[in-house]
Amino acid sequence: MIKINNLTFGYKENIFENANATIDNNKITFIIGKNGSGKSTLANILTGLIKPKKGKIIIDNIEITKKIKLSNLRTKISMVFQNPSNQILFNKVYDDIKFTLENINTKEEEIDQKIKESLETVDMLEYINSNPYKLSGGEKQRIAISSILALNPKYIVFDESTSMLDINGKNSIYKLLNKLKNKGIGIIFITNILDELVYADEILIIDDKQIYKYTKKELFNNLNILKEHNLELPFTLKIIEKLNQKGIKAYNEKDILKEISK
Ligand code: ADP
Repeated sequence: MIKINNLTFGYKENIFENANATIDNNKITFIIGKNGSGKSTLANILTGLIKPKKGKIIIDNIEITKKIKLSNLRTKISMVFQNPSNQILFNKVYDDIKFTLENINTKEEEIDQKIKESLETVDMLEYINSNPYKLSGGEKQRIAISSILALNPKYIVFDESTSMLDINGKNSIYKLLNKLKNKGIGIIFITNILDELVYADEILIIDDKQIYKYTKKELFNNLNILKEHNLELPFTLKIIEKLNQKGIKAYNEKDILKEISK
């Protein structure tokens, strides 16, 4: 579990003031909030890239806000960024993942196996010798994810990682989320696309320098919560709201389609 304890951080003005939250290791936790509310800042704090002014971040009983080597931290928590092209360094998929593994001093004889396993998980093994620059956005993003998987982290933060992908690319990432969760990886998924909440288990909303936590059920049963946090309902959630008004519960894509087709 990740514990955010009394987090205070800001640049000129505070973005967080004594904010508290927990993130489970066996859940898909979404982080949402208005533009500029502090989603990316929180991602950077959780992954140790920036230090809080006050408060603690504790990941599985290790306080990461203390002095901790970033390379050690990456085996606990790693981040997939928005632009898949920015995460590629070499012109061969194999070399890209190898570089990540070498950075954490992986034994030479283990490197081959780890590269293959991580590519297998994201369904990209057949691209092991391909040029990543020539792949589609979604494929590049899956290569970035496989680099991270090679580190065997307990948590992965996705910082708007689907925002630059087409629908096929987006779907390939959504499909992966549950697969990674079932491997015991805690997923932290930051997004501006609120339709994506159908893939969440739990939702953190950043608002007014605080972090509010809801289960998907709680939120979907009372979508006014989003409006109270000044977030607009996207099309998918408007449908869920309409179904709710008729006493029908729907929490995922499959349920929604089933209910509206009745
Ligand atoms: P979000 O991801 O929710 O859009 P951010 O975490 O990117 O929000 O930004 C939160 C606030 O902090 C914004 O007002 C933004 O302008 C400001 N901010 C972000 N990064 C910096 C920085 N490096 N220097 C100064 N202000 C920043």
